[in-house]
Amino acid sequence: MKILILNSGSSSIKYQLINMPSEDVLCKGLVERIGSKEAILQYKTDMVSLEETQEIKTHKQGLQKIASLLVDPKKGIVGEANEIQVIGHRVVHGGTTFSAPTLVTPFVKDKIKELFALAPLHNPHNWEGLDLAEEIFPQAKQVAVFDTAFHQTMPVKAKKYAIPEQFFEEHNIQVYGFHGISHQYVSRKTMEHLKKPKSKIICIHLGNGCSMTAVVDGLSVDHSLGFTPANGLIMGTRSGDIDHSIVFYLVETLGYDLKEVNRILLKDSGMMGLTGFNDLRDVQAAAEKGDKAADLALEMNAYRIKKYIGAYVAAMNGLDAIVFTAGIGENSSELRKRVCTGMDYMGIHLDVLANEKRVAGIHGIHTPDSPVKILVVPTNEELEIAKQSFQLVSLIR
Ligand code: ADP
Repeated sequence: MKILILNSGSSSIKYQLINMPSEDVLCKGLVERIGSKEAILQYKTDMVSLEETQEIKTHKQGLQKIASLLVDPKKGIVGEANEIQVIGHRVVHGGTTFSAPTLVTPFVKDKIKELFALAPLHNPHNWEGLDLAEEIFPQAKQVAVFDTAFHQTMPVKAKKYAIPEQFFEEHNIQVYGFHGISHQYVSRKTMEHLKKPKSKIICIHLGNGCSMTAVVDGLSVDHSLGFTPANGLIMGTRSGDIDHSIVFYLVETLGYDLKEVNRILLKDSGMMGLTGFNDLRDVQAAAEKGDKAADLALEMNAYRIKKYIGAYVAAMNGLDAIVFTAGIGENSSELRKRVCTGMDYMGIHLDVLANEKRVAGIHGIHTPDSPVKILVVPTNEELEIAKQSFQLVSLIR
């Protein structure tokens, strides 16, 4: 079964065509800078690797270009568009409505629309991707896979804020959690690797956005992002946890307006605010050259992660493995070292040499006698969406 995975963002569409259940990636690529004269179209198969700069005005035009490349007699990977039987969509926010992959119907589309207010930067674009795919691939079944769904298993004590009850009851203000597709994929891979379905794992997803999940026996029981993907760890441009009184101080005493404060906390903070760089590679390079602010920022970043590890060990009453994933987690031995140093009391012992080695795929970076395993597990959100879509469609066929 050929499944097209679509991840529609504000100005981009990422896509992969995956054959299931063999998990072969037949083709992958992206359309970037949609709306500009210099949009980029990337398309890669075993035989063809193409990157073109051209005007792509709308998401519709972008998706049409992807569709015609897929069926192109020379560069294409399928004979006709109707060979693509399923389209799996990443949808960021499923609210309290969606706790599993869902076949898209007009009702489901309306529900996703109702959630626009909770994820204004993501859900409208995800919805548009759904709508366009229905038009361009009318023969395919559409499946929505939600980033929040994995965290629906969190107990109420972990997902409720201590604010007046009406905000939870009437307005659904609670922890939703994000990066769920990645945390689900990575925690399952970890359990398979450890051959331990009954396990206590901490997944540390460090990309442009960063989050941690406590996973018991494959279920999310606590998570560091909240009502929106803003709190918890220090991220590229987001502050993570702060005392909310700072917002009032910025507005009432320093005279900023709320929009500016929002921008400051989401776009100008985190590693960017501390160092002037949001990409961790730049922060590390500066620290290596002796930049004290960059060194301190790395230390603060690692310290925040350590504190969450401590919290989640307490929440789970134990720990089998901590797992690093995503752009930073998979590549930054420096940050992993800073996180895992001085954690002996927790049974976390890093093998410093193994940590420095570049190894493809899942690998352990703990010492042989470390009670807690330390793993690097490459994430693969597209494959997870393909798996979940395949399972759902196979069930209802
Ligand atoms: P996204 O959250 O957008 O999916 P990624 O998971 O691809 O992002 O992570 C992107 C981030 O990973 C970059 O901003 C960069 O900070 C970091 N990164 C990528 N490669 C390296 C590397 N070799 N060393 C340190 N950090 C890296």
